[in-house]
Amino acid sequence: MVAILEIIRRLRGSLSIGKGEFIAYDVARETGDPFKILVATILSQNTSEANAYRAYDELKSRIGLEVHSIYRASLSELEESIRKAGLWKSKARAIKELANLIIERFNGEPNGLLKLTVDELRDMLLSIPGIGVKTIDVLLVNMGYGVIPLDTHILRVSRRLGLTEARRYDDVQRDLHKLIPPKLRLKAHLLLIKLGRTYCKARKPLCSVCVLNDICPKIGVEKE
Ligand code: SF4
Repeated sequence: MVAILEIIRRLRGSLSIGKGEFIAYDVARETGDPFKILVATILSQNTSEANAYRAYDELKSRIGLEVHSIYRASLSELEESIRKAGLWKSKARAIKELANLIIERFNGEPNGLLKLTVDELRDMLLSIPGIGVKTIDVLLVNMGYGVIPLDTHILRVSRRLGLTEARRYDDVQRDLHKLIPPKLRLKAHLLLIKLGRTYCKARKPLCSVCVLNDICPKIGVEKE
């Protein structure tokens, strides 16, 4: 198996993580606010980071990003503010329910979420339609918990690199957690997504220019 630390070392050396590329990461670093990180992550579901940013900025200017301002806004106002993210009806409902939950459970204080155990947090947030395991894992890893959220890029590149043979979310995550120490998991998460976006594309991966070309087994990649 290819050494994961060598993969991370090479990716670190050749791929940069710039502002605007990962909205949840940017929002976490700018605000440290778990509610805003969840809002950003919900907006980024099934759309580009650029569209998620447009919706996030519009929500900020039209309604605000505080729990109380979203709690007070009507669902239709919320929907209008985030249209640029697509799936705005279901995303607006999820964001609204999240704000309601934080008002009811933590008196509107988002950091109340972080006082829960990981299992309690998962159970509570999974009760909201539109918030799934991946969204919760994005919050966790950006708040310093050692979990690797998986998206389609990570699922694909992990299999091609031979880091896992699994297909289910929990199984792939378990395999990656065995290989990657907790303190590297946020960086690994970002770099593996960037690898998928830059070289290891779903169709026609750019193996000849990929920095992992000489060490990658290219499992499942059609030979040119
Ligand atoms: S060498 Fe090809 S298959 Fe392997 S990670 Fe790079 S692009 Fe993906």
